[in-house]
Amino acid sequence: MHTVVTRFPPSPTGNLHIGGARTALFNWLLARSMGGRFVLRLEDTDVDRSSREMTHSILEAMRWLGLDWDEGPFYQSQRFDLYQRFIDHLLDKGRAYYCSCTPQEVEQMREEAREKGEKPKYNGRCRERNLDPGPERVVRFKSPLEGETAFKDVLKGDVAVDNRELDDFVLRRADGTPTYNLAVVVDDVEMGITHILRGDDHLSNTPKQVLLYRALETELPVFGHVPMIMGPDKKRLSKRHGAMSVLEYRRQGFLPEAMTNYLVRLGWSYGDQEIFSQAELREKFSLRNLSKSACVFDPDKLLWVNSQHIKANSPQELAPLLQDFLQANDLPCPDTGYLIQLIPLLQPRAKTMQEMADWAVPFVRADQDLVYDPELLDKFLTAEIAYYLRQLLNILRDAPGFDKDSLEACIGDFLQEQGIRFKKLAQPIRVALTASKASPGLFESMEILGQKSVLARLERALQQAEG
Ligand code: GLU
Repeated sequence: MHTVVTRFPPSPTGNLHIGGARTALFNWLLARSMGGRFVLRLEDTDVDRSSREMTHSILEAMRWLGLDWDEGPFYQSQRFDLYQRFIDHLLDKGRAYYCSCTPQEVEQMREEAREKGEKPKYNGRCRERNLDPGPERVVRFKSPLEGETAFKDVLKGDVAVDNRELDDFVLRRADGTPTYNLAVVVDDVEMGITHILRGDDHLSNTPKQVLLYRALETELPVFGHVPMIMGPDKKRLSKRHGAMSVLEYRRQGFLPEAMTNYLVRLGWSYGDQEIFSQAELREKFSLRNLSKSACVFDPDKLLWVNSQHIKANSPQELAPLLQDFLQANDLPCPDTGYLIQLIPLLQPRAKTMQEMADWAVPFVRADQDLVYDPELLDKFLTAEIAYYLRQLLNILRDAPGFDKDSLEACIGDFLQEQGIRFKKLAQPIRVALTASKASPGLFESMEILGQKSVLARLERALQQAEG
């Protein structure tokens, strides 16, 4: 069997979005799971709408997702000579011809067809005129006039279109630029692409591409047209549904492996398993389990998948990422050693790295920078509570150890002596230590903060409550 070669050919006219990222992922996984090669190609023939900025942004998103490529990035804008050679070859073979019809004339032909209840298309007026090259002339492909064009699709099955439905489509525009259908086939042939997975919005282009493969006497690749991703309203996914560019998910604290995990499940399954590492996907992915039906984008599920990956990651791996988020939030950034101790407390609570940075606030801020809400202090540090906390402060000053278990034992003894329940003091202590009503487990939090901070914060909160 040939080596599998797949490709991802985005047009750099916008950022990489959910749909494009899923296409890239499927092609990448197919190559990786089969020991093949993955080619990246920028389809930037539309010079006005393509930009270097978008190219950079797409490459960055691919790198972030971990979708590394073996060849490329190739730029179609640098391959115009090659496309011209192929067009000339088709002209020489009599499979293409020059056409002098103006866009207005072609529109009129379409209109006439519509009026007759036929499919609107170019009527082939220049097909047999043997025109020479000339300004304003396009090159058209000579499509067969009868019969059908058929191909197999791994998801759609046997696809066939009546050739009378197809027209003599343009290969080279009047300004000399190649069209998408021409350039894509030339590149796929030249790059030895064996498998093409893409959205089924391209299905209508495929018969034209199949005709070009035949005209070039080359073998067809395996096609797989995956159903589009839908919003919850069953309309094609868009920003309206809360879908964002891939890099925006990075900014919001999603992990790349969670993104690829979520994306792969939008059209591929492996039993009822939901959580996959990238290594596992590389092993398990196969065309067989691609889904034939459309999937709905669900932001809540994406959050859940992200939270699962946050839990599964090691604190060592998450620490540098958390540092990035603390910095981005203008928060102090403690050293990695401290964060490695802190992160296990935050992992069960944070659905994104941004949330983790939010939970980390009381643990990274200096004692004197903690800001207490006076209402919280009034509510939780009443005179009665302050009385107990003052005594507790003295006890903690002489605590024999400041690890979680010693703290639990020491505070347990104190509560027993005083004849009060933990519930009575837990929330006031939490407010004093974190300036908030929610935090990880109290004893773990105290251990992380350390004796000095715990004493300083209790003292400061008491002073503010009493003052
Ligand atoms: N540049 C095309 C796109 O972004 C590629 C389509 C294809 O896979 O052939 O939609």
